[in-house]
Amino acid sequence: MNPIRIAIIGGGLAGASLIHALVKFPHLDVHIFESASVFKEAGMAIGIARNAQSALELISPSAAQSLQRAGAVPMRGVRFMMAYGDTAGTVADEVDDVVQGKRLTSIVHRADFLQELLSDIPREQMHASKKLLKVDGNGPVTLHFTDGTTHECDIVIGADGIHSVVRRLVLGEKDPAASPQNSGAWLLMTLQPFDKAQASLGKELVTMEDAREYGWAGKHAFLMHNILSNGELVQFVIAANDKEESTISDQWQRVVGVDEIMELYQDWPSHLNKAVNELLCGQPEHKALYLWDHPNASSYVSGPICITGDAAHSTTPWQGSGGGMSIEDSLILSSLLGRAKAPSEALTALQVYDQVRRPRTQRIVESSRATGAMLTGKKEIDPETMRTFLSRWDFIVDIDMEKHRDEVIRLFEAKLKEE
Ligand SMILES: Cc1cc2nc3c(=O)[nH]c(=O)nc-3n(C[C@H](O)[C@H](O)[C@H](O)COP(=O)(O)OP(=O)(O)OC[C@H]3O[C@@H](n4cnc5c(N)ncnc54)[C@H](O)[C@@H]3O)c2cc1C
Repeated sequence: MNPIRIAIIGGGLAGASLIHALVKFPHLDVHIFESASVFKEAGMAIGIARNAQSALELISPSAAQSLQRAGAVPMRGVRFMMAYGDTAGTVADEVDDVVQGKRLTSIVHRADFLQELLSDIPREQMHASKKLLKVDGNGPVTLHFTDGTTHECDIVIGADGIHSVVRRLVLGEKDPAASPQNSGAWLLMTLQPFDKAQASLGKELVTMEDAREYGWAGKHAFLMHNILSNGELVQFVIAANDKEESTISDQWQRVVGVDEIMELYQDWPSHLNKAVNELLCGQPEHKALYLWDHPNASSYVSGPICITGDAAHSTTPWQGSGGGMSIEDSLILSSLLGRAKAPSEALTALQVYDQVRRPRTQRIVESSRATGAMLTGKKEIDPETMRTFLSRWDFIVDIDMEKHRDEVIRLFEAKLKEE
């Protein structure tokens, strides 16, 4: 049997988890192309929730171990806290359980996790400094890179992130969903040494004995903290909406001055106000990230080309699920492509991938958008919603990944029979 030649564009979490999942199939000839000069993650920490932990386990024991080897800290639970009103400082809702042996979420340093996922990939299958420019042909396909080189393959998988070139190929340049949109919310994060963060926030909130993720809802702003890197670091995040909706910017970053931060958090419980001052107000201004997401795509696939991860469904981070969805995509794509025996069957695999993954991932993007509106005060949260706020995560984290994968495989086999 001739190998099926697969090219992955982009070496972020989506591309790395996918190649990790695909290299075990000897009949697949997989290569990954990354535009940067090295395979590395620029971001700070990421929460890998239970659904993604399950997907990692189903991909392979080594994928699941990547998380531990990268020093991930499993959270004992998540607490959703009030930061305003009569109940300021109290728990509004919390989830404190272990299901199927898996914690709700584990916090890991992005660069360490990516390195672990890629550690066993043969170097001759990894190509850095290869920026995809365009794609020719409809099977086989020729990839053209900006350095003038080309690569021929049967299947192209765009894991090239929110600015995806491959998404525009799949949807067409003129499709309004081809480009992302700014939500108008901005976010600022810092990684701090454990001792410093503990001294600021207090031993009750920052402790390895009872490591939890805390999300604090204010009237006009949000704050979150959790622990990573075997307990050496604490991630501290603040976020808010731009005041004027009408002036939503097309920028990816914006300068946030200390005065603005202080004003946003001035009425917060004193220990949080103190932590914001100590951890984020040491310099006059910061560059905050605007939070963007994708409008729903009408398809993730066009012939032999498909998209995964942020290229397919960039989401705002309010439900911490973009990376998790990428890992789920990798499990499903690899389960399908691993069963395809010829390029024609791989095309069917991509169709099934689109059919099953689009509804789930787009529901998550929409849910995250609505969650963000509540957490930053754009939409009021009534007391009942507040008390059950974390149930918004249930459909994301409590999916039975094994069942999801098996249903996808059944669908694929039925489609092959029809053909
Ligand atoms: C502030 C913030 C917090 C988040 N927190 C969480 C969280 O807690 N949990 C969670 O699950 N998710 C979280 N996410 C989402 C998560 O970070 C993303 O969903 C995930 O990193 C997407 O990975 P990716 O590989 O699809 O994209 P990327 O990480 O963007 O990788 C794309 C790669 O493609 C390369 N590339 C781009 N164009 C080309 C080209 N033309 N040719 C070749 N290579 C190219 C890029 O250099 C890059 O390496 C968060 C996101 C943000 C913004």
